[in-house]
Amino acid sequence: MEGKRPAVRRSLTEIKEYVPGKSIEYVKEKFGLDRVVKLASNENLYGASPKAIEAFRNFKDLHLYPPSQSEELIERISEYIGIEKSRIVIGSGIDGILEGTFNIFLEKGDTVSLSPPTFPYYTTLATIHGARIEKLKRDKDFQIKVSNIPKSKITLICSPNNPTGNLENPETVKRIVEESQGMVFIDEAYVEFASSDLLEFTEYENVILARTFSKAFGLANLRIGYAIMPEWVKKEYIKVTTPFPVSTAAIKAACAALDDLDYMKSAVERIKKDRERLFNELLSLGVEVYPSQANFLFMRVNPSFCDEMMKRGVIVRDCSSFDGCRKGDVRVSIGRTEDNEYFLEKAKEVLG
Ligand SMILES: *Cc1c(COP(=O)(O)O)cnc(C)c1O
Repeated sequence: MEGKRPAVRRSLTEIKEYVPGKSIEYVKEKFGLDRVVKLASNENLYGASPKAIEAFRNFKDLHLYPPSQSEELIERISEYIGIEKSRIVIGSGIDGILEGTFNIFLEKGDTVSLSPPTFPYYTTLATIHGARIEKLKRDKDFQIKVSNIPKSKITLICSPNNPTGNLENPETVKRIVEESQGMVFIDEAYVEFASSDLLEFTEYENVILARTFSKAFGLANLRIGYAIMPEWVKKEYIKVTTPFPVSTAAIKAACAALDDLDYMKSAVERIKKDRERLFNELLSLGVEVYPSQANFLFMRVNPSFCDEMMKRGVIVRDCSSFDGCRKGDVRVSIGRTEDNEYFLEKAKEVLG
């Protein structure tokens, strides 16, 4: 190697390197196992609708750029959620939409409010942008409680919250939205698994609400999400986003998935049923497990739990490195029924 290494942005020194979870292949090899189940990334293990997969495969024009904002998909989303097209934006997953939002609003030194434990990428983005982070407290059930309304430029609300699985109280959200001077970003990545949503708040000029095809729709690999935002924000969003954030193959797959809602709903029903079953089984084993409105469960167990489970062929998410979590905090995704049974069988061994 020759030449000099220019300095990277100072803010990056504060960011810890992302440590990805272990892969199925790694665990098979390391422990000599034939069957390994990964319940660590909240993926929908039933997979995408066969119609979505077919639409993806049928797309052949790989040499052409995609549309910047697909009218076809925006129209389908508009019908799906009952919100007018002029307030819908498509992006490279919620991650991409978060990035766009930070690019619109944040100046160096601004404050971002978030409530640990929550989705770690919020902190990463805020740090990259040189923002100050203000932490909102949670109560025993992990719901956000606010005494003073944050004076921040962006407040992040994740509902159902990752990794704890609870919904936020609409009264609290209303107070934050109405009294905050800044934008409120509501992340509903798991809304399809929940009994209610916060869509009503999209009537406010300072609210962005984001959703994704990655979780319930099983399209995580295609990187496609959307947001509902006021028209004045959408104008700015179009300025800051990369020109072609989503491939046409992904757009076609998402359209097909929306044309086959029954497939998604049936997978969601099975996952919700298994979520309740796993919750009750874990409770009866004496585990401190929390009710969930998402496709995962949060629990507080012995710190050796994740390693012991891995040796037995089940990969779960160790949350001890999440801000706001402690040793022994674990998130387990709800997979297919056979995966969940495998998890239970091994969990009984480890806990019993
Ligand atoms: C998985 C997840 C995301 C990422 O969604 P993409 O659309 O795949 O980028 C965003 N927010 C939360 C809370 C998540 O758990």
